[in-house]
Amino acid sequence: MIYIDGQYYTKEDAKISVFDHGLLYGDGVFEGIRIYNHRIFKLKEHVKRLYESARTIHLTIAMQPPELEDLLNQMVARSGKQNGYIRLVVTRGDGPLGIDPEKCPRSRMIIIVDDIQLYPMEFYEKGIEIITASYRRIPVDCLDPRIKSLNYLNNVLAKIEAKQNNCLESVMLNTAGFVTECTADNIFNVKDNVLKTPATYHGVLAGITRSVILEIGDRLGLKPEEGTLTRFDLYNADECFLSGTGAEIIPVVRVDRITIGNGRPGLVTGKIRTQYNEMINQLEN
Ligand code: PMP
Repeated sequence: MIYIDGQYYTKEDAKISVFDHGLLYGDGVFEGIRIYNHRIFKLKEHVKRLYESARTIHLTIAMQPPELEDLLNQMVARSGKQNGYIRLVVTRGDGPLGIDPEKCPRSRMIIIVDDIQLYPMEFYEKGIEIITASYRRIPVDCLDPRIKSLNYLNNVLAKIEAKQNNCLESVMLNTAGFVTECTADNIFNVKDNVLKTPATYHGVLAGITRSVILEIGDRLGLKPEEGTLTRFDLYNADECFLSGTGAEIIPVVRVDRITIGNGRPGLVTGKIRTQYNEMINQLEN
């Protein structure tokens, strides 16, 4: 089910102009959201982040947040999907060639309700291996990674590097050498029962899953901390894992060919995953 500016289309018919500045310049913002048990997980949080991204790039969304939330709920109900994925995209809209956003009179809203491609169970049971990318994360004073923008080339290049090294993900450092995030996931480490993730000022998306995990960490007494991590901290962690809407929580057992902890998904990671799954299951009610 695909919505573009008030109309519904099939996958084959859903098309936009080649003059859309989202396509021409990556000028736009987006969200990726999960549907569990016919319900939208953390809907308000995703919508809030979308509007914050839009505001930061001076992009006006024609609808108010409650209206958008209603629309998404209606689409999910109409789709009949028990589990799935929503891709929400707001572009600068159509305009002449040339980047001037003032020449684009109307932003464009695209909503795709689709199935979700899950990662193999093996990743969760055995953990994955990641590398440090040679590409640095875009600095906050250039393009704050808190903006979930349509400019993902920085991430794409780091993803290519991961794949070239037979890894699913790579972790990016910022230009000061501090750990930021992976190409589509946030990163956490656990050391001496303390849960830590890079602070957003280092250049990371304020992941919705990340904030859920910080809350869970608090409940589990893990003194969750948003701070500074270097590669040293990853290599010497007891446990490491990635978080994201699609991935949920994936244990990391090797970083740059160094084994983390005992080389198996950790106990704390397991506890956090259990709590996360419980939150999702509660959505049924
Ligand atoms: N970092 C980046 C760069 C992302 O694209 C994403 C979303 N896939 C995340 C982190 C995780 O964010 P969330 O938990 O909101 O999906």
